[in-house]
Amino acid sequence: MWFRIFWFGCLFIGWGVLYPKTSSVETLPKWSLLDPWQKALTKDQFQQALSQVYCPRKEWWKSWIVIEKNGARIRKQAGKDEWYQLSFCEKPKKSTTLGTKRESLKGLRIALDPGHIGGKYSEMESRHFVIGKGVPVKEGDLSLQVAKKLDAILSSLGAEVFLVREKSEPVTSKKPKDFAKEAEEWIAGRGLAHLKKEEKGKLIKKRREMLFYRVSEIHARAKLVNEKIRPNLVVCLHLNASAWKDPEKKELSETNDYHVLVNGCYMGGELALDDQRFEMIYRLLNGWHELEQKVAENVSVALAEATGLPPFSYRGPNALKIGKVEGVWARNLLANRLYRCPVVFLEPYRANSKGAYERIKAGTYEGTREIGGVPRISLVDEYARAVAEGLKKNYLEPVSEVTLPATP
Ligand SMILES: [Zn+2]
Repeated sequence: MWFRIFWFGCLFIGWGVLYPKTSSVETLPKWSLLDPWQKALTKDQFQQALSQVYCPRKEWWKSWIVIEKNGARIRKQAGKDEWYQLSFCEKPKKSTTLGTKRESLKGLRIALDPGHIGGKYSEMESRHFVIGKGVPVKEGDLSLQVAKKLDAILSSLGAEVFLVREKSEPVTSKKPKDFAKEAEEWIAGRGLAHLKKEEKGKLIKKRREMLFYRVSEIHARAKLVNEKIRPNLVVCLHLNASAWKDPEKKELSETNDYHVLVNGCYMGGELALDDQRFEMIYRLLNGWHELEQKVAENVSVALAEATGLPPFSYRGPNALKIGKVEGVWARNLLANRLYRCPVVFLEPYRANSKGAYERIKAGTYEGTREIGGVPRISLVDEYARAVAEGLKKNYLEPVSEVTLPATP
């Protein structure tokens, strides 16, 4: 069975707006978790982070956040006149998220999150394609290979590395059938109950599967990250892909590029959900955007140098350009919202481009091989080494501003 690819960065995820009040399988947030940040930020710092990273379009936050002279009021529950009162401090306190220059990566806890599940789940996840009689390309298997290579490099540099997933198996113990009730409710909520049995059955199946492999899976990973691993940084490893022009006739595209994501750019419909509004404020107060941007910039420069690929640019309102380094964007994704620590989300290569596919097909190998007349190390090695290089730069050679090298 063929699946149309919507790999686009785990990207076109509109679930936020589909649910009233909270996102799927979410419970109401505990606003008291914000208490330690009373008088931690100045009004300027709060406003700047809100307008430059988290919610660049002012009218979107205005119904939920009221900024006053000495503090901000944040609406706790949609439709209710209950507010969380946050007080500002008068003078800025020193930022602690960036850390100081290190001699090695010793003591640094880095979680590597191989995107998706892969293996026998890759078709269900729509992270799978086959060209002709070639072997199937599965994003979840490639991301795991990169994670293992990267683990070896970072561990050799002294970092404590954790793989959020070590096999092509789900982290969640749930199965698609566990979401039968939610899928039925979703159909009813969208006014689709009148559909023919067969059509409705297909939609319900897809919905159950999505709630399993995406929502439940990422929640299970978040629990592992937040309660067990408790890392200083999570690196989410993905490969991007283009939508097929014709899903029936899969043709490799010419477009091949890279980009790196930090958390931010919450949309109006997302802010209207109590849990997403809370997570946004929680991230803002922790100041994680500062480290996220710096790591993303260093990794972006390293990916550009190693791959020679151009940076991807978003056009829609769901992403925001962050800083001056090309290829670094803010988006609100489930993983980079739920992992309670700084997160960078990597999307190098378009797996179904001519350039990347040739290299994926070649698999992993020692040394270099001629691909398109150019000696190249394997794609998995190149990806892992570039990320390690970016992290080394970030932690071992901190510079005040990351800039792209001049183009030759
Ligand atoms: Zn992905």
